[in-house]
Amino acid sequence: AKLDGRGTFRFFEPAMDARMQARRRLELDMRQALARREFQLHYQPQLNLADERLVGCEALIRWHHPERGLVSPIDFIPLAEEIGLIVPIGEWVIRQACRDAASWPQPLSVAVNVSPAQFKSDRLVETIMSALSQAGLPPSRLEIEITEGVLLQDNEKTLQTLHRMRSLGVRVSMDDFGTGYSSLSYLRAFPFDKIKIDRSFVTDICAEKDPGTKADGEAIIRAIAGLGRSLGMTTVAEGVETPEQLRRIRAEGCTDVQGYLISKPLAADDLLSLLSAPVPG
Ligand code: C2E
Ligand code: CA
Ligand code: CA
Ligand code: CA
Repeated sequence: AKLDGRGTFRFFEPAMDARMQARRRLELDMRQALARREFQLHYQPQLNLADERLVGCEALIRWHHPERGLVSPIDFIPLAEEIGLIVPIGEWVIRQACRDAASWPQPLSVAVNVSPAQFKSDRLVETIMSALSQAGLPPSRLEIEITEGVLLQDNEKTLQTLHRMRSLGVRVSMDDFGTGYSSLSYLRAFPFDKIKIDRSFVTDICAEKDPGTKADGEAIIRAIAGLGRSLGMTTVAEGVETPEQLRRIRAEGCTDVQGYLISKPLAADDLLSLLSAPVPG
């Protein structure tokens, strides 16, 4: 909306109107997507560097829209968040991820992203408990990934919810670490199990970047890995795409890696085939 000369809002400017209509359309489609079973979870494996074994997978939502094709979570999660639809969608994600993980031939952990509006909803902890028990998945195999956005609504309730999850035996990861304003103070406020180092720092480690940027990226990763060690937290480097990045990240002391070099996010069936394949050697 735009203020006109008399200080009143004019809503129906044509360009704005078209954007609002597109948004409204997306919203209507999204409201039906759950019932029409258009969502799917893909799983991206995480590798432990010490023993080179898979330790877990991150669940990443995909929307197969009948006309639009595959819609990226970046294009619908923010809207779902805004209009509150993230609560039922997020609930589906938790239940589906627990069911899938319970069917894996190895006891890997499954990590689920929980966004701020979902985190605020009163049902979150109950949903997690019921999803775990219905799937028969031990709580220690579930990880909840949150970003600073969740902690920005800093209050007693947020910490209480995190502690309730923790006391169930569910693990909690800090996602996209290093991109926000007060990452460090959050580590003090809550004892996370895992720090996920944002992909932007990993991206800086590549031959095409200038030596200064590269050295800075490495220094930041080294510092976060050291912090994780001192605080007893696992550190995962996100978005590892090249052997050089892997070498540097290993040298800087991260415990785990995730990224296209290890594997792209896989459909549930493809992950099952990967996990069921005989280990080479
Ligand atoms: P995120 O939680 O930071 O997830 C990591 C994103 O990086 C994923 O994008 C993943 O496919 C991508 N990625 C992984 N390895 C590499 C790599 O080596 N190179 C590059 N370029 N990218 C890599 P995706 O699946 O498109 O998800 C984007 C974001 O959408 C996620 O970022 C997360 O914030 C959100 N999201 C995804 N699924 C869910 C969900 O079930 N619930 C909620 N609330 N948010 C979700
Ligand atoms: Ca994540
Ligand atoms: Ca991330
Ligand atoms: Ca992210």
